[in-house]
Amino acid sequence: MAGRLDLSDPVTALPGVGARLAELLAEHLGVRTVADLLAHYPSQEPGKYRERAAVKPLGEARIGETLTVIGRIEGWHAFTPRRRRGGKGPKHIARATVRDEGDGQAIAAPFFNQPWLPGRHPQGARVAVTGRLERYRGELQLRSARLTPLAHDAPAGDAAGAGNGASADAAGAGDAAAGDAAADDADGGLLATYPATAALPSERIARLVRTALELLPPLPDPLPAALRQRHGLVCRDTALRHIHVPPDREAVRRARDRLVYDELLALQLAIQQRRSEREQDARGLAQPPAPDGWAAGLLAGLPFAPTGAQRHAIAELHADLGAAGPMHRLLQGDVGSGKTLVAAWAMLAAVDHGRQAALMAPTEVLAEQHHRTLQALLAPLGVGAPGGPRVELVTGSLPARQLRGLLAEVAAGEVDVLVGTHALLEQRVAPPDLGLVVVDEQHRFGVEHRIRLRDKRDDGHHPDVLVMTATPIPRSLALTLYGDLDVTTLDELPPGRQPVTTTVLRSDSPRRANLERFVRERAAEGERAFWVCPAVDASEVATVPGPEGERSIASAVETADHLAQGPFADLAVGLVHGRLSAAEREAVMDDFRRGALDVLVATTVVEVGVDVPEATVMVVEDADRFGISQLHQLRGRVGRGRARSHCVLFAAEPEGNRRLEALSATTDGFALAETDLELRGEGSLFDTRQSGLADLRLARLVRDGAWVARAREDARRLLADDPVLADHPELHAVVRGHVDPERLAALDSG
Ligand code: ADP
Ligand code: MG
Repeated sequence: MAGRLDLSDPVTALPGVGARLAELLAEHLGVRTVADLLAHYPSQEPGKYRERAAVKPLGEARIGETLTVIGRIEGWHAFTPRRRRGGKGPKHIARATVRDEGDGQAIAAPFFNQPWLPGRHPQGARVAVTGRLERYRGELQLRSARLTPLAHDAPAGDAAGAGNGASADAAGAGDAAAGDAAADDADGGLLATYPATAALPSERIARLVRTALELLPPLPDPLPAALRQRHGLVCRDTALRHIHVPPDREAVRRARDRLVYDELLALQLAIQQRRSEREQDARGLAQPPAPDGWAAGLLAGLPFAPTGAQRHAIAELHADLGAAGPMHRLLQGDVGSGKTLVAAWAMLAAVDHGRQAALMAPTEVLAEQHHRTLQALLAPLGVGAPGGPRVELVTGSLPARQLRGLLAEVAAGEVDVLVGTHALLEQRVAPPDLGLVVVDEQHRFGVEHRIRLRDKRDDGHHPDVLVMTATPIPRSLALTLYGDLDVTTLDELPPGRQPVTTTVLRSDSPRRANLERFVRERAAEGERAFWVCPAVDASEVATVPGPEGERSIASAVETADHLAQGPFADLAVGLVHGRLSAAEREAVMDDFRRGALDVLVATTVVEVGVDVPEATVMVVEDADRFGISQLHQLRGRVGRGRARSHCVLFAAEPEGNRRLEALSATTDGFALAETDLELRGEGSLFDTRQSGLADLRLARLVRDGAWVARAREDARRLLADDPVLADHPELHAVVRGHVDPERLAALDSG
């Protein structure tokens, strides 16, 4: 019967799929066509493909063996178990007792967190239960079991041909009759598990997929044979069949590789095509760094030697700046890796050509910080003095008159480097010959911001663009997420940094008193402490469990009060948060920097960029309210000087919190980013539903990093020879099949 079905057919073309089932498929799984159905891939989590188990009477099975028992449900016991510490373990257990119709023995099978099962398979229902035979508290059980409904009237002991009776299914719609799981068990291979819902259980999806695969003719392969060979990939037909119905685990792996590659290639082709379309007639600026300008002078006058990573980054920027095309580069590096020096060098390279450079930061605190850092870095060049480079800060909170004066000087080309916030985007900020744009913390800006900065040139040339982020992400992800940017990574910290020790404590730990004593001791030595709270004041309503029931999450205002009046009555305690005006904030930060304050209670306004080398203690209250990368950033505020630094993370219930555990285990930002990805998925970095990453069904950017790199390179080569894929019409189909152009737009980084 092969050949009857086409991928583009609606699911109703499958025998047994009527309007109701089609509606369920569309509603629950977004599956409308046969192609959609085949793209509803089985779960790739470990252990989700199961060996098909032999049907055998219980009396013949051994402990540890996976087998299928056929029989009737004698009863259910459903209950909520006591949860273990840290909230682990199932929320709900439904325990079935099944009487084996082969030898009349009864066996229990516990099912975790599937409270609907007893309703679906009531007492008396005939079922096949597949699971691992184990002894639990003296009783034989089938563990990790799977339940398949069978026809009621099948002769005892006859597992085959029982599938059609599965209409006991809650959905009740007519069903595909491609045999049932128990019958399939006879023919070896692996069984897939599908992401399922109560109305559309995995077994039911599996049957539909099998029917479709049986009816489909062999599928053509759109991938050029050369690419397939280069990477040793199986053909598409095999890949699609084996991901669903694999003969063995090796076949799953090879099928997955092929499908992952297709997804990534499609995405990379789409991203790169967009980039080249956009840049078709974009002219850049060739501004090769001069050997005797300020940029060179900066490096020659440094009080320290640049790290190897910084030198490498500067070499890459050197090439970009000199090229005629516009630069689009991402510079990522962990906190403290020294990105500012690299950016400063590039800005001076543009200034050496008589042009201006702009650095845009997401907050005033950060912009001020950059401004100060640049002043210090450029001091040996005579910054601000006649004959030296001129660096100015442009923020919204400058007094109007002062701003007007400054803008006039900017327009006259007298300001070499402009540092600022969004205020830089305003039209009246008009440097006459903008050569380089640096955008810090890219993910806080939209593409349109960068385009507006770029469009400050009205001669049709694009300034070079450097994007910096202190949220390091695995390279594979950067290459996709910022597919239109080249990526440079600072993967080395300047020497001499003391690693920060990290301690996780319960909020009500008696060790809090020790910590307070420790902070006082450090303060006596001239060191300083940050004390970070999630809320500004008590008006923020969130609560957490406390010793006497719920309590509010820690707020900066109250914590500052408490510390200043109690444990730190003899110290100077300051308070900074986002509701203060920029001037107030700056005054407090200044006091802390100068040492007029010993302890700075703050919200996450100190999260990025704040650089106070004497700060050696970072305390975070209710740290479980923050994400991994946020906590890592906060911790990066200490350990910037020569003295040993400490980070203390308080949480109401720290036990079993994987984020806090990860943070105390490592200070490597890239390792933490990977953990974050593992824990939260790729969506943790930005909203995947709105971006091209939503089109990645099988590919996992961390795990499949090598494939990302190959696909990116292949896409580059293909498009270099054939920018619109004129010679590869079949690849158009791959792209169209995998990438939604609207979502792709959200991946643009400008
Ligand atoms: P990032 O912006 O990447 O977090 P910064 O550029 O603020 O890091 O650098 C952190 C600190 O390290 C600054 O005080 C800077 O002057 C210093 N620094 C940068 N590069 C080096 C280096 N190669 N050796 C020693 N110190 C460095
Ligand atoms: Mg250039």
